[in-house]
Amino acid sequence: MDMKLPEFLAHAIALEHEAAERYLELADMMESYRNDEVAATFRDMVRYSRLHHDSIVARARGLALPALRSWQYRWRQPPEVGGEEAFDPGLSAYAALRYARENEFRAQSFYAQVAADAEDAEVRRLAQEFALEETEHVQALDDWLARTPRPSVPWREDPQHDA
Ligand code: ZN
Repeated sequence: MDMKLPEFLAHAIALEHEAAERYLELADMMESYRNDEVAATFRDMVRYSRLHHDSIVARARGLALPALRSWQYRWRQPPEVGGEEAFDPGLSAYAALRYARENEFRAQSFYAQVAADAEDAEVRRLAQEFALEETEHVQALDDWLARTPRPSVPWREDPQHDA
């Protein structure tokens, strides 16, 4: 993925915007379940995503950014969670954290791939920085998952991430 700066920034802006929107939905959902702790974590993630989004928008000022297609940045729902259009209203805290973790991991992989492949030194530098941030988000969600009880309705095991 040899990305030029405008293309890279367009992806990063879209990813952070998407993350903020999804975390907001997850926070509202956890609040409706009276799971205030996990809701607060998701609200923190909304705040980080927005701060990051705004700083990337500032960095992109004056550049003409390409338009992206939604599949290039939309969060993916694991099949267990339900359809593409909406969250399963019965999503447990555990499943919500897993869902967020999958997508943070996806963002981290994306940035790491760009950091490895880009010819442009500035793109490599930014992508490395962003990959590191995403690694911290994955870690934070892993910490939460470690202390969140698994639901009695089983989350189908995903062999890729259940080593
Ligand atoms: Zn993140």
